[in-house]
Amino acid sequence: MDFSDRMRRAGEAAGAAGIDALLVTPGPDLFYLTGYAAIALERLTCLVLPADGDPVLVVPTLERPAAEASPVPGLGIEVLDWPETADPYALVASRLGAARRTAVDDHMHAAKVLALRAALPGAEQVLAGPVLGPLRARKSAAEVAALRAAGEAIDRVHRRMAEFLRPGRTEREVGRDIAEAIVGAGHVTVEFVIVGSGPNGASPHHELSDRVLRAGETVVVDIGGTTAAGYCSDSTRTYALGGPPADFADYYPVLQAAQAAAVDAVRPGVSAESIDAAARDVIAAAGYGEAFVHRTGHGIGLEAHEDPYIVAGNDLPLEPGMAFSVEPGIYLPGRHGARIEDIVVVTEDGVERLNRTTRDLVVL
Ligand code: ZN
Ligand code: ZN
Ligand code: ZN
Repeated sequence: MDFSDRMRRAGEAAGAAGIDALLVTPGPDLFYLTGYAAIALERLTCLVLPADGDPVLVVPTLERPAAEASPVPGLGIEVLDWPETADPYALVASRLGAARRTAVDDHMHAAKVLALRAALPGAEQVLAGPVLGPLRARKSAAEVAALRAAGEAIDRVHRRMAEFLRPGRTEREVGRDIAEAIVGAGHVTVEFVIVGSGPNGASPHHELSDRVLRAGETVVVDIGGTTAAGYCSDSTRTYALGGPPADFADYYPVLQAAQAAAVDAVRPGVSAESIDAAARDVIAAAGYGEAFVHRTGHGIGLEAHEDPYIVAGNDLPLEPGMAFSVEPGIYLPGRHGARIEDIVVVTEDGVERLNRTTRDLVVL
């Protein structure tokens, strides 16, 4: 990953936005810019990236060895450590001179945001998201390769579902097996495991419960993890434990058509909201519009949810390298539901799917 280039582009984008410096604490933005996977502690670690000038990484003295073992020194970033009883906020302020406007990363702890505000009373604070989000949304070839590997890893877990989903087991028991399989398949952490059996499948936010799976039901399985490279996977399939209920078979083909229409619509230049509309129009035309209660997708990369969001009102034009989910759902409260989710990447002339397991209903 070319961190120097990322920092250069971030500095330029900050300058263009009238921001004097980006202030970035441990999290996905710091990892994106420097490759330093710092732990978020109460003690301040902060990259000070001026629009104009040299970057510096402020770290607690006891974290200095970790910072020096990261790509940071190789990038020419000065590492400035602060001993246990020093004031790190004054140290940051001393480096910012006459800054009029600083941007804090979107995940910075509120305590640190307020301490920085107090240390820089003359500077306006804004969010760094509008500067860093668009940079992170356009993945490089290496990042697309990392997302492709994550997609293949989660597909391996979906292909094993017949081992896990059986009548008589609880969602929680199934979920534990799936979590183990997610790590076994090439992830280092499990991000989430959703097993929505029967009526629980009608709740998009359902996770796991002690409900027992029964024959003849459908089960929504939405799973994801993070690979050693730091990139996330996220894929949903809906399964049936024997022949599905008749009213489920009425709408599952509608959902398949909606998901296919949305993926087929992806190419450079079309808007994010047009992809949402492509899925929603198919579902609404079949009379299930009220049953599709969420946006069609979210960006994915170092975070499971990031820019760009595939939602009505987002007229952002898609560009090559943007990666996001396409995950329409149909939910009938009290009965059952279904969702189909693939991660896709915008290519120079169309789209690449990163999840390849069948989107036909898998009857186990
Ligand atoms: Zn998902
Ligand atoms: Zn998702
Ligand atoms: Zn985030």
